[in-house]
Amino acid sequence: MPHLRICVYCHGINLTVMRLPIFLILALLLRHGLAQPDRPRLVVGVVIDQMRQDYLYRYAETFGEGGFKRLMKEGFYLSNAHYNYIPTYTGAGHASIYTGTTPAIHGVIGNDWYDKTNRKRVYCVADNRQRTVGSTSAEQGKMSPHRLLTTTITDELKLATGGRGKVLSISDKDRGAILPGGHMADAAYWYDETTGRMITSSFYMDKLPAWVEKFNSLNLPEKYLGGVWDTMLPKEKYQASGPDNSPYEVKFNSETKSTFPYDLNTLRKTNGNYDLLSNTPFSNDYLTEMAKAAIDAEQLGDDEWTDFLCISFSAPDKLGHRVGPRSVELQDLYIRLDRNIEDLLKKLDTKLGAGNYLLFLTSDHGVSDVPQWLIDKRVPGGYIRQEDLKAKLSELIQQYFQGKPVIESITNEQIYLNPDLFRGDPKGGGVEWMVSLELISNFLIQQPGIAHAFTKNIIRQGDFNEGGIKGMVIRGYNEKRSGDIVVITEPNWLPQNRVTGTTHGSPYTYDTHVPVIFFGKGIKAGTSSIYHSVTDIAPTLAVLLRTAFPSGCTGQPVAELLDKP
Ligand code: ZN
Ligand code: ZN
Repeated sequence: MPHLRICVYCHGINLTVMRLPIFLILALLLRHGLAQPDRPRLVVGVVIDQMRQDYLYRYAETFGEGGFKRLMKEGFYLSNAHYNYIPTYTGAGHASIYTGTTPAIHGVIGNDWYDKTNRKRVYCVADNRQRTVGSTSAEQGKMSPHRLLTTTITDELKLATGGRGKVLSISDKDRGAILPGGHMADAAYWYDETTGRMITSSFYMDKLPAWVEKFNSLNLPEKYLGGVWDTMLPKEKYQASGPDNSPYEVKFNSETKSTFPYDLNTLRKTNGNYDLLSNTPFSNDYLTEMAKAAIDAEQLGDDEWTDFLCISFSAPDKLGHRVGPRSVELQDLYIRLDRNIEDLLKKLDTKLGAGNYLLFLTSDHGVSDVPQWLIDKRVPGGYIRQEDLKAKLSELIQQYFQGKPVIESITNEQIYLNPDLFRGDPKGGGVEWMVSLELISNFLIQQPGIAHAFTKNIIRQGDFNEGGIKGMVIRGYNEKRSGDIVVITEPNWLPQNRVTGTTHGSPYTYDTHVPVIFFGKGIKAGTSSIYHSVTDIAPTLAVLLRTAFPSGCTGQPVAELLDKP
């Protein structure tokens, strides 16, 4: 008696076939096979450091058809995707994209933070147990993802493929490479600005593979820095930006104004030599060349085990901090980055075939306009001068706490109190912790430019899914790592002294609203204006790749992208 079981696990039935014509059996098998779409052979994750969602529109006239516009047209574009926590910083952003959760759970609460146990400042990916691989620098490679507390989607791919799928991650910034790769990456490479080489850490390997050595031997930074940076298009094409000569930009050292053309060979002498590259669009050219070299050398997507290539472009952030979102410089960088993306897509099309790979593009945070530019246009904004605030705080401490060292650290707009003063010993001068929190936070919210000061006890009582700014604070707050008071500024108020340049980190839309585009294998063309948090990217990938969700995942798959009508 013919007895055919057709996947009892997914259909929950035990189909006994008696005297069925052979074509019907074949049809059933075929149907069964088609019901499970195959995994893409390669996933490419593109993170653009400091890309606001509005750049996709504001710069559109100067983009080509094969870069951002192609992704938006052929891919599935989320027009209302946001960060759902503070602080909106690089380390936290990259960790959140790839873990599908927020700093409360993945633990990367900033780029640096104050370590309450060892009572010193730590950097999110620094790891003294490691050494540099690939250059003579002592410090640049002492890195690993050891402070990341959960798995990433890249880890889950490793686990799902029994380690056979390759995970490679590259960036200009160490944290931009390390955090996306997760704990199990085959390699993460980043730019050593002291030697102009791509390096890694002994966490991943003992020596660079031959192809990376070969790539380094091309000495591309030398070539880029020997040239001049002028606008790619004629000057009149930059209508989306302000005048080139602007008082709101941070000038390069030894420059009297920040205008095109930039003679890089001269500027490198006074601007950190190889470090200058990261402030120019040529850093993106460099990274694109490395990504292309990696696709060939590592034979990414060549077998049935899905590989994952993470690329994070850091120059938009480094230049963006200097010149702000209205500068000709930033627009020129994005025009060129658009061509880099086109170039990368062409490479992937040639290598794997159009539609045979899956790509997503997003950003780790946006950025504020330069507050002084806003003020000059009668839009609210301002500056909180750190020294002024510290002076006022020490006056308060003198008055109420008789000068005791109540505040141990102020890091990332968070105040860490000195635990030694709250051990409950009256003779030791113990100060009531709750009273201190209330006094300091009430003082802070009276200061110009400060909108909220959330105390630890208030944050603890909150719910992870709470709305509003308080919810964003809760999702960004890690009990073991975060401070005792979290300060939130008014919109477009920056905690900085200078009135040129800008930054990010706030809960406001200019920092939270970023592009999210899925493109390629398994992705229909479309768009959605439904609210999504960036933590929805990783679980969406998990559904597409049929892996487990990252361990701490709190995001949800983007249903309108995945589900058939
Ligand atoms: Zn960033
Ligand atoms: Zn930044």
